[in-house]
Amino acid sequence: IQSKLPGVSTTIFSVMSKLATEYNAINLSQGFPDYACDPKLIELVNKAMKDGFNQYAPMPGSNLLKENIAEKVEKLYQVKYNPDTEITVTAGGTQAIFTALATIINHGDEVIIFEPAYDSYAPTIKLLGGIVKTYELAPPDYGIDWEMVKKLFTANTRMIILNSPQNPTGSILSTDDMQALIKLINGTDILILSDEVYEHLIYDGQKHESVMLYPELRERSFIVASFGKLLHATGWKLGYCLAPEKLTAEFRKVHQFNVFSVNSAMQQAIATYIKEPDNYTGIGNFFQQKRDYFRTLLADSRFKLLPCNGSYFQCASYSKISDESDKNFSIRLLKEFGVATIPVSAFYQKGTDHKIIRFCFAKENSTLALAAEKLRNV
Ligand code: PMP
Ligand code: GLN
Repeated sequence: IQSKLPGVSTTIFSVMSKLATEYNAINLSQGFPDYACDPKLIELVNKAMKDGFNQYAPMPGSNLLKENIAEKVEKLYQVKYNPDTEITVTAGGTQAIFTALATIINHGDEVIIFEPAYDSYAPTIKLLGGIVKTYELAPPDYGIDWEMVKKLFTANTRMIILNSPQNPTGSILSTDDMQALIKLINGTDILILSDEVYEHLIYDGQKHESVMLYPELRERSFIVASFGKLLHATGWKLGYCLAPEKLTAEFRKVHQFNVFSVNSAMQQAIATYIKEPDNYTGIGNFFQQKRDYFRTLLADSRFKLLPCNGSYFQCASYSKISDESDKNFSIRLLKEFGVATIPVSAFYQKGTDHKIIRFCFAKENSTLALAAEKLRNV
């Protein structure tokens, strides 16, 4: 058959995690915690199953979960989303992204993305017949010059994908970024897909600039969230999409034939769990401590640590160590030193190589210590 995605191979996450297992390396590559999620949560899932939540959930998501998401969002951001018409529970952030793009993108539509970018955006856009317009961010700050973004606009620009806090760079958008974006799209009908799966993972007292805080952005945005990050349970693949009623109505038309509905017992359990803010408000601090611990451990290594303002990823330059490509370097690091990482060039379609690798620090402190011991020998 003719490939619909020529040039795309197995994702770097699968490749590196598989190699990590094969070589028995410490896996700081794919982003997932190596510790257990809250046992209370597991009990709640058991209870939901015993209580009979074992058949299809309603297509847009469990009513209770949607209500409790609305309550949580309002508490955190003082913005109201209507659970009946503006919130859809999805199979993780990934399906929310796919569905939002499928809802909007027609053949020839252009979507602006900021690279290095999470690896599902570009292939999904292409699969739908869209055209990817790339703005390449550069280390160490990965900041955006919005005047340059404007240069990418054409009559076919349909959407901009934002991701703050950003995977893989750990950079975040500021109030100034949001104001510049508002100015830029004023008078256009460009939509926004705002991937906010790391909304809680933001550090040093900084505030998460959700697009929902800006009415001019909110009215044209799909916001993507993931319970995998919030609950330290990435394998549950549950998340949601917030969007104004008109966008949600179209989103659900696609969602119903894409997945129809997602795991009902887990939705019930999560609904109860997130009702209690104590179950999630400490998560930013929890990861900030991990970030600080990992950075301290690597302070006297030959890696140069880049800023990390959010997400559970720490990027580092190895240019003082080697001039190998980042792919070769990360494979050698894995095989010779026993630590798996992600080469950041994998997040650029052109493979731009700034000699930077990404570490995931959502790990037990003992795992981080062990990895750092090896990394200090590099
Ligand atoms: N967006 C970003 C930026 C991510 O890092 C991830 C993966 N962790 C996702 C979306 C997908 O989230 P999920 O695992 O809930 O599908
Ligand atoms: N988001 C995770 C990461 O960036 C992994 C997602 C995946 O494996 N598809 O590492």
